[in-house]
Amino acid sequence: MGSDIRRAIVVGAGIAGLTTALRLRGIGWDVLLLERAPARRRGGYALTLTGGGHAAAEALGILPGLRERHFDVDLLFVNADGGRRFTLPADRAEALRGGRALNLLRGDIEDVLFTAVPDDVEVRFGATVTSIAQDEDGVRAVLDDGTTERADLLVGADGLHSAVRDLAFDVGPSVLRDLGYTVAAFSLRKLPAGLAERAVTTFSPPGRSIAVASLGRDRAAAYFIHKSSDPAGDRALGPEQTLANRYGDLGWVVPDLLGQLADTDSVYFDGVAQIAADRWHRGRVVLVGDAAWCLTPFSGYGASLSMAGADLLGTALEAEPADIPAALTAWEARLRPEADRFQTRARRAAAMHAPSTRSELLRRDFLLRAASLRPVTHVLAHLSRH
Ligand SMILES: Cc1cc2nc3c(=O)[nH]c(=O)nc-3n(C[C@H](O)[C@H](O)[C@H](O)COP(=O)(O)OP(=O)(O)OC[C@H]3O[C@@H](n4cnc5c(N)ncnc54)[C@H](O)[C@@H]3O)c2cc1C
Repeated sequence: MGSDIRRAIVVGAGIAGLTTALRLRGIGWDVLLLERAPARRRGGYALTLTGGGHAAAEALGILPGLRERHFDVDLLFVNADGGRRFTLPADRAEALRGGRALNLLRGDIEDVLFTAVPDDVEVRFGATVTSIAQDEDGVRAVLDDGTTERADLLVGADGLHSAVRDLAFDVGPSVLRDLGYTVAAFSLRKLPAGLAERAVTTFSPPGRSIAVASLGRDRAAAYFIHKSSDPAGDRALGPEQTLANRYGDLGWVVPDLLGQLADTDSVYFDGVAQIAADRWHRGRVVLVGDAAWCLTPFSGYGASLSMAGADLLGTALEAEPADIPAALTAWEARLRPEADRFQTRARRAAAMHAPSTRSELLRRDFLLRAASLRPVTHVLAHLSRH
């Protein structure tokens, strides 16, 4: 590119894209961040940031901002009438996750990252790429407004259905490994009456699960997951119709949640699928986060690995500034075993999230009840750190 200052185009302003922008700017790169949505996404769903994600947040200096928004939550499991089956208290749940865990809304993480990204990072909303070409000197991206941008590196952080992956990797839909579930998650205006504050309350009728997370300060989110033989058909039908069809027979707080879906400002609705791409970089184009390795909600680690992976990308580029493809090769070699491990774990955990049969439900309950016993928590916490 003729100058010593490196330039990156980052596509997607989710957790992976924002972390990449922050990290690359921190090592002196110029960054252009493109986000398809017309404005910042808010709220979203509840998630836990842990492990490498927690460590990356610390390294990036955003841990204090995230801690301010964290709330300890008890995990409550209930029957169809809301009666308590059992509870996993907050301290045990946290110990199981290795003790360094933050319960947040996805929007909290994006908010804190966005605030930390310096003002000299150009962010364009309502913008995306329509073609990508590269040679030995750089990458050329044509944007949807017809303009062209050049850079040393293009980062596809545009999620599960990545356009960058389609444009630059020639892999097609076969990289999507469908796990046979559909998930909907959205923020709530109001916690339904009778539900505990600062808790995640879960009800699991066969093949389905409904959870409501209350994270304090009037922040609450709902999560629906069901086994589906046709996640693409569910997507085509849309969240309101699909959830009405699949959950309309249920009582408890479900009618209230379905009512709130109609006017929420942020719904995540998709099939549960992993990305099984045999490479995450090609020349000067690299995929990060769900675009590269999507772990799914079943792993409980997608946001964490998005943040850790983006942070590590900065480390790899800093270590090998003169040879970007070599830096990307080293980065991928370092990260792939962890992504593979969490993808495997997620596939194994699927039945825990939406038990289909009574025996699966009893097994899940048994494992969680056992995990809540203090000596067992201690051993599992130790194992989860290794
Ligand atoms: C219900 C649920 C619960 C979860 N729980 C956890 C948990 O407890 N712990 C955990 O660590 N992870 C969890 N995850 C996973 C985690 O949320 C994701 O792995 C993570 O958010 C992925 O971030 P990302 O930036 O890679 O992708 P995304 O969040 O999908 O962001 C992609 C961004 O790119 C934008 N975009 C898309 N296409 C284009 C385009 N063509 N051009 C420009 N921009 C584009 C999108 O608008 C978006 O802003 C959960 C996920 C779900 C759905």
